[in-house]
Amino acid sequence: MEKQRYERPMIKKLESNMPNKFGMRTEYRPMTHIDNVAVKDLIDEYGSPLFVISEKTIRNNIRSARKAFETRYPKVQFAWSYKTNYLDAVCRTFHQEGSWAEVVSGFEYDKALHNGVDGSKIIFNGPDKTEEDLNKAIKNNSLIHIDHLDELYAISEIAPGLNKKAQVAIRVNMDTGIYPMWDRFGFNYENGQAWDALNKIMRTDAMELVGLHTHIGTFMLSPNAYAVAAGKLADLAIGIKDKYGHEIKYIDMGGGFASKNKLKGTYLPGTDINPSVNDFAEAITGALINSNFKPDNLPLLILETGRALIDDAANLLGTVISNKRLSDGRRSTILDVGVNILFTSFWYDHKITPAQPFTQYAEDTVLYGPLCMNIDVIRENISLPLLNKGDHVVIQHVGAYNMTQWMQFITLRPRIVMIDPENNVHVIRERETLDRLLEFEKVPDHLKTFDL
Ligand SMILES: *Cc1c(COP(=O)(O)O)cnc(C)c1O
Repeated sequence: MEKQRYERPMIKKLESNMPNKFGMRTEYRPMTHIDNVAVKDLIDEYGSPLFVISEKTIRNNIRSARKAFETRYPKVQFAWSYKTNYLDAVCRTFHQEGSWAEVVSGFEYDKALHNGVDGSKIIFNGPDKTEEDLNKAIKNNSLIHIDHLDELYAISEIAPGLNKKAQVAIRVNMDTGIYPMWDRFGFNYENGQAWDALNKIMRTDAMELVGLHTHIGTFMLSPNAYAVAAGKLADLAIGIKDKYGHEIKYIDMGGGFASKNKLKGTYLPGTDINPSVNDFAEAITGALINSNFKPDNLPLLILETGRALIDDAANLLGTVISNKRLSDGRRSTILDVGVNILFTSFWYDHKITPAQPFTQYAEDTVLYGPLCMNIDVIRENISLPLLNKGDHVVIQHVGAYNMTQWMQFITLRPRIVMIDPENNVHVIRERETLDRLLEFEKVPDHLKTFDL
């Protein structure tokens, strides 16, 4: 028989008037493997903490999202949102699945080119496109989504010098019933800015209006907001056809679908209550099909879905450094995972599961990271089985925004591995080293030496 794990005995006050509605604990089984690879082996080989990305999950996600839209609408194109996760291996997985690139800076634009994406399949969004960026994007026939009038004027100055027509769309913001409205990006629908920009574009030879774009928010929980937005873009497109006899090629609905994570303050798990990609697909395609577009002449529908396609494809493995009691008697556990590499812990209650067998006892626990900083709290309160020093945990659904918004702070950033569909493990980003960081630093001569 396997040796029983030792656990220090403890006396616990029973809070019989405050039952946890989900039962005594939420974790019943350890998560010992990811895609058939043992968590313990991954940490032994690649260190802790460790981000682990499942290529199989990414491919399943994008395939089922495509299916959700393609079964409802004739012409669909996904474009991978680089800022959600721009690791080359991740981007190339999406590109292999047919996704174009959606970028919001010159840096991301160059990364898409470096990954081998043809310029004409790069969608260039964002408020900060430099003249150099615009030059490059016009030359490469990229799809430039204009954010403001200054950008519109810059393009009309640059394009004639290149003897090219810039391929442009405008980003439209609008009231979709979701507040606060994201009206800082693009041109407003209700107050006439959008029409003003469209009229200006139609009057110049420097640009060809190829599409209309919107991105109404992120972690949206209302499919109906997308239906409203798609209806408004359809109205603009049909208005342009009526006024100028000009047909746009595509309508781009942006990203923003909620993933299955649990937002802080919500009661039920995201897997139970958040709308699925099918729900969003139904809302968007329904609005377009029910608009006044001629049925045999529907525009291409572009989706820039980020979060909902990558969040559940990554786990973050961590290790227990220590347990201690706080002054009020609460249990606290210190992990080697800090908020600097798990940015989304400010918004989500991630599902966190021990990676080894545990006993039936659970206790409300505060989970801290290793940083010497008070805000380094991974979770204010979680009912977890008791963990010992050296035990491992799996923090789930961490694929979106953590590996792009993370920062080097106090500790060095860890490795990232990807498990391929045959369950082989590949390092796709090395851990940071002191030497690497010192390459950026310079010490003035007079500060080179000192006596203590
Ligand atoms: C960030 C962003 C996306 C992706 O958003 P998600 O919430 O990750 O789906 C798509 N389009 C634009 C313009 C964006 O800024």
